[in-house]
Amino acid sequence: MASLKHRIAFAAAGVVTAAQAATIGLVLYVAEGDAEARAMERLAIGSRVVADYMETHKAQLELTVNVLASDFAFRSAVASFDLPTVTSALRNHANRIAANQAILVGVDGFTIASAPRHVELSREVWKDVVDSRTTLATLGDTASLHQVVVTPVRAPDVIGWVVMGFRIDDALAVQLRNLTGMEVSFVSRRADETYASSLMPSANGLHDRSTSFFTRVDQLTNDGVMPQLLLQLSRDDALAGYYALSRSMMVLGALAVCFAVAIAAFSSNRITRHLKSLADAARRISAGDYGSPVAIRSNDEVETLADALSTMQAGIAERERQIRRQATHDALTGLPNHEQAVTILDARMRDGGAPFAAIVLHIHGLHEINSSLGLEVGDAVIGSVARRLAHEVRAENHIARIADNRFLVVSEERDPGAIEALGARLRDEFEVLSVGGDIQVGLSLQIGVAEFPAHARDAATLVRKAWGASLEASTTKGGMAFFNVDRDAQHKRRLTIMRDIKAAVLDDQLSLVYQPKYDVRTDRIGGVEALLRWHHPTLGAVPVTEFIEVAEQTRNIGRLTRWVLRRALAQASGWRQRGMQLTVAVNVSAHDLTDVDFPQYVRTVLAEHGLSGQTLELEVTEGALVYDLPRVRRTLEALHALGVRIFIDDFGTGFSSLAQLRDLSVHALKIDRSFVMRLDEGNTHIVRSTIDLGHALDLEVVAEGVEDEIAVNKLISWGCDHLQGYYFAKPLAPDELEAYLARSMATVSHLPVRRS
Ligand code: C2E
Ligand code: MG
Ligand code: MG
Repeated sequence: MASLKHRIAFAAAGVVTAAQAATIGLVLYVAEGDAEARAMERLAIGSRVVADYMETHKAQLELTVNVLASDFAFRSAVASFDLPTVTSALRNHANRIAANQAILVGVDGFTIASAPRHVELSREVWKDVVDSRTTLATLGDTASLHQVVVTPVRAPDVIGWVVMGFRIDDALAVQLRNLTGMEVSFVSRRADETYASSLMPSANGLHDRSTSFFTRVDQLTNDGVMPQLLLQLSRDDALAGYYALSRSMMVLGALAVCFAVAIAAFSSNRITRHLKSLADAARRISAGDYGSPVAIRSNDEVETLADALSTMQAGIAERERQIRRQATHDALTGLPNHEQAVTILDARMRDGGAPFAAIVLHIHGLHEINSSLGLEVGDAVIGSVARRLAHEVRAENHIARIADNRFLVVSEERDPGAIEALGARLRDEFEVLSVGGDIQVGLSLQIGVAEFPAHARDAATLVRKAWGASLEASTTKGGMAFFNVDRDAQHKRRLTIMRDIKAAVLDDQLSLVYQPKYDVRTDRIGGVEALLRWHHPTLGAVPVTEFIEVAEQTRNIGRLTRWVLRRALAQASGWRQRGMQLTVAVNVSAHDLTDVDFPQYVRTVLAEHGLSGQTLELEVTEGALVYDLPRVRRTLEALHALGVRIFIDDFGTGFSSLAQLRDLSVHALKIDRSFVMRLDEGNTHIVRSTIDLGHALDLEVVAEGVEDEIAVNKLISWGCDHLQGYYFAKPLAPDELEAYLARSMATVSHLPVRRS
């Protein structure tokens, strides 16, 4: 990629070069044309000069030749045909007037005498000569041109003609060159013969008419050999001025280009240097460095741009400051938010700071204020709370708003009593809080405290623990709770169970154990109760009551019940196929009884395994009956219609009324194991009356938690219909149960007591 600097320099050089080339080209073109025109003019002038010279020369010659022709002695010699005298006179005269040839021609046109050489004029030449009276002609030798002057010799009639020829030779040509300043040549019409020339014989200018010379050709005569006059100006000489001009223009042009390139390079250098500074500044800004100013002094647009960049930098810095503040501070109170509070506390903890307590204040009543008095009042209350806290705490960075209705206060107070006192003060203050004007509201506080370094070494954990304690505070006197390690572990365990309960169903971490139920009337194990077990990957065996409670709260119980139902009925069907007729009891929760689809589900699963409703017993706690009674009743009726029997589990611990029990489609009561396990006087009373009551309502009675022989005997004697407990067997895995059953079938009675 060509840099901007180079591109500007190239462009400037290109433009200037092109402009210079165009100007120089045009000027030189015009100058050359002008020089040529002037050369041609000079040639024309030269031509006239030569013509004048020839004319003058001819006039002089005529004068001298006339003198000879009128010389008496000469005329007499011609008349007397005295040839030696004539020849001698011709020679003398020729010598005297520097003619190269003299010829006497008779009136008949024949040559009579000639000198110094003997020349015989042909008739054509003679005719040409005599017709034009004086002209240029080759005399004797075709290679030599002469200026010819003809004069009659009269005595008194014309008795002959004297022809004088003056050779046109190189000397004349040189003389003419000196006169005209140009090369002069006399050539034959077709230029096959050069009669005379000022050019050196070696110079080939004659043949090279166009390239080295400007040439003008004049026809000298129209008769005879028709010689031509060639005037030539050396192109180099003629154009010398033009060449000098073009050289200087070239130099000037080159200088202009160099100058332009230098200027362009200089200014592009300057611009690119500025641009680079601007780009550096932009990069700095993008990297978040707003401190260095964008200072470029150049008095042009670059400076304007730099100023704009500076303004932008300041704008971005300000906005970023605002955004950062918004991200770290609560807009309403201007207090640090949760994240910022954690950052501040972390820094404090890292520095090995002094111990402190994180106090989370959970403010109750805000939602009610928002919904009844409006958000504006709610906001005013929060503002007022923040001010009160600030007034109370009086230290910077010691208060934060970490959630809608939660504030964090940091106290350096070491004494728990002092922290409690602070909490009490705040609770009192917020009990009646006036919010501008005459609005007064009442807020209640739940306060949780966690301490650094005792409870956590990082701020997020510390705040979380204080927050957790604030949740516990509802149950404490004074609405304040300090973080408790045990409670925290319990919370974590509960969270793990919540998180993993779905996976337990899907990943097959669940299993069922079965506890036999002894039927007093038939003296055999008539059925089993299916009890759920969960082996968690990290927690190990989780007590069933613990995760059932979580499942109920997290609305996962339906999922679990269905899993148990499916597994238990599959098991029952398996046993049935192997000749073991056992009823299976499955525990269900209140939620299942309000689930309108539940009976249909039970029906489907029974049908899938080809089992009748009598195979299944559902155990429902008393508590489950109090929710949405009409709906529960419908469910129970639907189940009853399937032949499924309903047992009231843990009977005696709840508050179900007799009237309710009579109304509902219930089959049996299962006396809670707490009564059965300890049959003291009071419990005996309860158990016996429960048995009687059940029978009175036409219900069967089951005793669970039967642990010893004494209890067995008592319960049988009181008329209890079914017994269940460790005395018979603990809940057993399916294969254990089968082994157990096989063992007990072999005995006469299923009652271990009778076996002994
Ligand atoms: P539950 O329905 O009353 O079950 C009887 C509980 O008493 C069982 O405890 C059983 O192991 C225990 N038990 C039986 N005989 C004796 C005895 O002689 N002495 C003593 N000390 N205990 C005895 P488990 O298995 O821990 O179950 C506790 C409770 O968890 C069950 O009480 C039931 O309410 C619930 N539960 C168990 N499985 C399920 C289930 O699949 N679904 C639902 N919704 N609840 C279940
Ligand atoms: Mg039960
Ligand atoms: Mg029970």
